[in-house]
Amino acid sequence: MNTQEIADLQKNYLIPTYAPELALVEGSGTSVWDAEGNEYLDFVSGIAVTNIGHCHPKMVRAVQDQVETLVHISNLYYNEKQPQLAKALAEHSGLMDAKCFFCNSGAEANEGLIKLARLWGSDQGKFEIVTMQQSFHGRTLATLTATGQEKIKIGFGPLPKGFVYANFNDLQSIEDAITPKTVAVLVEALQGEGGVIPADPEFLSGLRKLCDEKGILLLCDEVQCGMGRTGKWFGFQNYDVQPDAFSLAKGLGNGFPIGAIVAGSTLANTFQVGHHATTFGGTPLACSAALAVIEVIEDEDLIANTTMMGAYLVEGLCEISMKHKQWISGVRGLGLLLGLVLDVPALPLQKKLQEKGMLSLATAGNVLRLLPPLNVSQKEIDQALRLIRETCEELNPEMAALSPNP
Ligand SMILES: *Cc1c(COP(=O)(O)O)cnc(C)c1O
Repeated sequence: MNTQEIADLQKNYLIPTYAPELALVEGSGTSVWDAEGNEYLDFVSGIAVTNIGHCHPKMVRAVQDQVETLVHISNLYYNEKQPQLAKALAEHSGLMDAKCFFCNSGAEANEGLIKLARLWGSDQGKFEIVTMQQSFHGRTLATLTATGQEKIKIGFGPLPKGFVYANFNDLQSIEDAITPKTVAVLVEALQGEGGVIPADPEFLSGLRKLCDEKGILLLCDEVQCGMGRTGKWFGFQNYDVQPDAFSLAKGLGNGFPIGAIVAGSTLANTFQVGHHATTFGGTPLACSAALAVIEVIEDEDLIANTTMMGAYLVEGLCEISMKHKQWISGVRGLGLLLGLVLDVPALPLQKKLQEKGMLSLATAGNVLRLLPPLNVSQKEIDQALRLIRETCEELNPEMAALSPNP
């Protein structure tokens, strides 16, 4: 089918929650191809999902082998892949006596974190969770309520009770939001959807101290910034801070749907038999995919590559930003979760880049978000920088005219 045929079919049969333009039919490494055979440099990675690139041979083989052996049983039975995956995550987390629960998505992992925190606090009558403005935690009722963005809540009330909001990177605002009913603070080490905003070091370490003083939990949403994306296994590791538990999904299965809760000693044994469950959580197939992802990150030293390539990309983006000071204010982010911050809408830049064969994201209005796979090469980054440079030159008159800056 060509793109038009796919679009026509979709228009008739899919509930229109998305508005795609491209039809992508194949991928390999950092490249994807559309239905007409055009190649694109993929600096979206399915929004921080395909962290080891498209169709990595090791993952392909692991999934192929497992699909021929055993796809699904039930969590009523042992499946050897699940504790193996849990062990790898627990060890990389650095959390003391960490244990895992597996589910299927980021929202479901956060939903589980919320339940875990509430159960832990239930003896003391604590249930309220403090979350951040501009955060993103998912689209289920509880997680969209936890999300600090009004626009995604309109029309879905009544929303679950027990969430209060504070300002990211503002410790005082969190302290003000804490009451005797507070059980936890939920935070992203780096807000992805919110506009690629990293936590300030003093904020996260101060938050850990504050939670300890108040006897409440610190929970991290690592759905986007986990699995090596920031140049550490998990985003909070950039800050020398340990949460009591954190959620994972996106990059964990490189596109195979899997999510997880990783809980340290305080919470590792809070859920007991019957407290929480999900049919598809941690199937042999899902765990094989995630184990392959972890193996590739380890064997190919992708944490180091992320730091190195991230620094290289930042350098190039800073040069571009300096050249267009009138409408580009700078670069922010960690590792390969980066944002070119504009003083004008990012959409025209994203669209023009797509026409030239590069995929990127326009986020939070004015941020061009870049998320290449963690095994991206210097040559691919050079290619991306050339396209961004060229596009910025072409758009310069239009963007400068839109800019509020003199
Ligand atoms: C994407 C995302 C989620 C939601 O994950 P889904 O798999 O779409 O449910 C939650 N938190 C963060 C930080 C995310 O980026």
